[in-house]
Amino acid sequence: MGVKVLRRRELTFWEELYIPQIFSGLRITSAHFFRNLFLHAAHSVGALTHRAASATFQYPEQPRPLARRFRSRHRLTVREEGTPRCVGCMLCETVCPARCITIVAGEHPDPNVEKYPVRFDIDLGICVYCGYCVEVCPEDAIRMDTGILDVAAYSRDEMKLDIHELMNPALRKPVVECDLKFPHECRHSGGEIKGSWE
Ligand code: SF4
Ligand code: SF4
Repeated sequence: MGVKVLRRRELTFWEELYIPQIFSGLRITSAHFFRNLFLHAAHSVGALTHRAASATFQYPEQPRPLARRFRSRHRLTVREEGTPRCVGCMLCETVCPARCITIVAGEHPDPNVEKYPVRFDIDLGICVYCGYCVEVCPEDAIRMDTGILDVAAYSRDEMKLDIHELMNPALRKPVVECDLKFPHECRHSGGEIKGSWE
């Protein structure tokens, strides 16, 4: 099979100066700026509304609409009685390419439920938001549909979500109260097992 060698074209004198390219970029940017300025002014008086102008979202006061398939912060889905749907099968932990899921499974008193997560952590500091954990779950127990995007923190440790935050996405760090009734590894009790099935 023949090999085709492509040689890089030599720049002309004017291209080496870069000045024409700078003015070309400025011309395009200015055209967009004045077009949007004109259209927004026209829209404010009800004219030319059929011509779309580019829009800037005033985040975070004005959150941007998210597509239905957008992957945002994780959550664990719950059963009617408030326990996690997760059966501790470890599939998500196994498939996770970033290895940022930590699960400790415990025996569930209901013989129809194989196991449950005593502990379930996700380290968002290394999660790559691939969504494999959601796709692989056989119980629809984990989803990435909270719409939460602001996961910034001051330390790596604060980027780790535990079972409290995963079951209640409205919780924000520092989480100070635990209302989970089933046995779980509770950060609020120094990492000891808290709760019971009774
Ligand atoms: S989204 Fe991907 S990287 Fe993040 S926890 Fe799920 S499987 Fe792991
Ligand atoms: S979240 Fe789903 S895949 Fe992960 S351990 Fe629980 S049941 Fe298995």
